[in-house]
Amino acid sequence: MKYRYISDSHTHSRCSFDGSDSVVMMCEKAANMGLYSLTVTDHCECNEYFKENVRDAMSASILEVSKARALYNSRLRVYIGIELGQPTQDLQASQDALSLTEYDFVLGSLHNLKGEQDFYFLEYTPETAPKLLERYFDEMLELVKLNNFDSLSHMTYPLRYICGNSGLKINLDDYADKIDEILTLLIENRRALEVNTSGLRQIIGKTLPDDTIVNRFRELGGKYVTLGSDAHRWGDIGSGIEDGLNLLFQCGFTHFTVFEKREPHFLPIL
Ligand SMILES: [Zn+2]
Ligand SMILES: [Zn+2]
Repeated sequence: MKYRYISDSHTHSRCSFDGSDSVVMMCEKAANMGLYSLTVTDHCECNEYFKENVRDAMSASILEVSKARALYNSRLRVYIGIELGQPTQDLQASQDALSLTEYDFVLGSLHNLKGEQDFYFLEYTPETAPKLLERYFDEMLELVKLNNFDSLSHMTYPLRYICGNSGLKINLDDYADKIDEILTLLIENRRALEVNTSGLRQIIGKTLPDDTIVNRFRELGGKYVTLGSDAHRWGDIGSGIEDGLNLLFQCGFTHFTVFEKREPHFLPIL
């Protein structure tokens, strides 16, 4: 193995509505791959929190991860995480979810705009896509201002569907000011940027975000970067993490970050 530490800081178990496997199966895979650590970050969609069984699912996730942590004590570091979706759309839900346990790691995500469905379900045309993306970055800035997470997850999430599945062309230079504003605030708040490697195994074929934004984050003074496969089944645990490490290295980073008890820890890439 070329890299000293392989860690996967974004994964989903069957406690997520779209996940399929038990935490123990995920840990078994991670331990067999020789991963340094695995963070389970099940979905907590704040806008659904009080309508669906999100609270129960999060409680189940926390319990499963705690049990697995004890079981894999000597073989793998297992961290309790949460993917906090749309916390700005229900502040009470986000506070409630964050009080359920002492998390190691909180991802901040935006899967849908206020009043809209997940970007996965939307249809895109060359006219609608740029407007949606503009609203997306505006709402993402609100999320960063809320500042209740450790790492900003898949910053270019809609591109998975706009560029990947729908095959439309987007020039992110058109959003450079908004992107800079988001990255600058993240850095001021001492928060991390996630390199999400799920895109490498999807039609878009790139990390979310890709090297352009990661480079810009570093140029602006960003220090903390986390890596996650966003696996929703055990077979994808660790997928693309080595490519992600390579990307970070090419962008000039010497370390990546893993969070424990919500504190950042640097690990060397080489
Ligand atoms: Zn997500
Ligand atoms: Zn996820």
